[in-house]
Amino acid sequence: MATDIRVIGSFVQAMMICPRQVWLMSRQICPDEDNVFLELGRLIGSHAYGRERKEVHLGHLCLDLVRRGGREFVVGEVKKSSRAREAARMQLAFYLYELREMGIEAEGELLFPEERRRERVVLDAGLIQQVEELKRRIIAVIYRDKPPPPQKIPFCSKCAYAELCWA
Ligand code: SF4
Repeated sequence: MATDIRVIGSFVQAMMICPRQVWLMSRQICPDEDNVFLELGRLIGSHAYGRERKEVHLGHLCLDLVRRGGREFVVGEVKKSSRAREAARMQLAFYLYELREMGIEAEGELLFPEERRRERVVLDAGLIQQVEELKRRIIAVIYRDKPPPPQKIPFCSKCAYAELCWA
């Protein structure tokens, strides 16, 4: 495993749900591509907010949507449901943190198009501390030789790795 591990947004989201997912993703072990929930997420991501949608790749960041909001940028993260709201919020906080490291100040907006909901995310001192702690934990998981053992959680039923963990 390379020594310069780069944490990316999907690791952050996965870490909030299941550390095993992070390890599997870091080894590029592909999830079940026929998983209907994966497909649904892709579809909602690609059709929602069509007019303002602008996926931006900035270094290791893949931002769903970026627009100008007054003097700052607003970064949007589109999710199919608020079921994993906290994970989505931390993923967005991570993007804001990484942008700040690049010298770009931005605010965040969590978007749940199916529920017609938007939620503002502001990177404050508390959130910065949480992001830094999460990044440390992610790197520790990725450095493990073996994945953390599977733990049955409610998310397993919709996880694309379910067959790998529970078959
Ligand atoms: S199926 Fe469950 S234990 Fe396995 S990676 Fe997914 S969430 Fe984690």
